[in-house]
Amino acid sequence: MRGKMPVTATAVAVAAGVVAAGWPVVVAPAADKGPSTRTVLAGTLGDRRWETPKPGSYTVPKPAPDGLPAVLSRIETQDKVVFLTIDDGYEYDPEFVRLVRAEKVPILTFLTTTYVKGQGQYFWALRNAGSQMENHTVGHPNMAQLAPEAQKKQICDASATIETAYGRRPTMFRPPFGSYNETTRKMAGECGIKSILLWSAEFYNGTSGPGVGFNGFARGDGGKGFKPGDIVLMHYRKGLAEQFRTILGWIREQGYRPAAVENYLPRSLGGNAPDPAPAKP
Ligand SMILES: [Zn+2]
Repeated sequence: MRGKMPVTATAVAVAAGVVAAGWPVVVAPAADKGPSTRTVLAGTLGDRRWETPKPGSYTVPKPAPDGLPAVLSRIETQDKVVFLTIDDGYEYDPEFVRLVRAEKVPILTFLTTTYVKGQGQYFWALRNAGSQMENHTVGHPNMAQLAPEAQKKQICDASATIETAYGRRPTMFRPPFGSYNETTRKMAGECGIKSILLWSAEFYNGTSGPGVGFNGFARGDGGKGFKPGDIVLMHYRKGLAEQFRTILGWIREQGYRPAAVENYLPRSLGGNAPDPAPAKP
């Protein structure tokens, strides 16, 4: 990362009057009694900031004309940045957390809440390493095959669980298998989701991809290597730390750097960037 380094979690933890070993144990959502200590603390710890892109260096994604969550699979930019997104949450590799912290790499996590049950502290540590926790459903179904109410339950319940555990309600949704329909967008919107984040390339870390083999890399457009603004899909799988080192190596070899996609999305789409001023009449 160039530019301003994020505040270290340790420094923030000290400022917040806690020690790193004292990360709260994540429990099942309780009845609504107002913000818990954990939620307040999470707000305090949410100060980690990744580099923000220069205005004009990219095209700010626009809201969808129909007012439902926008669907994005890459960011339009000439800058050699890529966005690393990691899904599911089935494997818990402590070395990966250490690596993300040491290398200060922005990543974005899409959690499937049933997969992470009992692993709250692992993802809390990743959250403190700068990864927002976004929504990848409760149980990883094929959304396009579900009735509206079932879709809504998958999204809203996951958002509620993530908000309780990590102190921030998800604003981005990634449908399992990239499968969604217009009902998904509508239901996601009703659950507070602002954008549906797909991907433009996949790193088949710890598995084999069609035609690219084990630990293969495939672009959606069939090309090779990275392109500016790629959103890269990965998964929490066995051996993630080593696989992460591999992709960081590729990114650097090709002259790219990882960036935080949430800083490229305007607030209306669930990110941190200002919305462009409306066009003058
Ligand atoms: Zn998934």
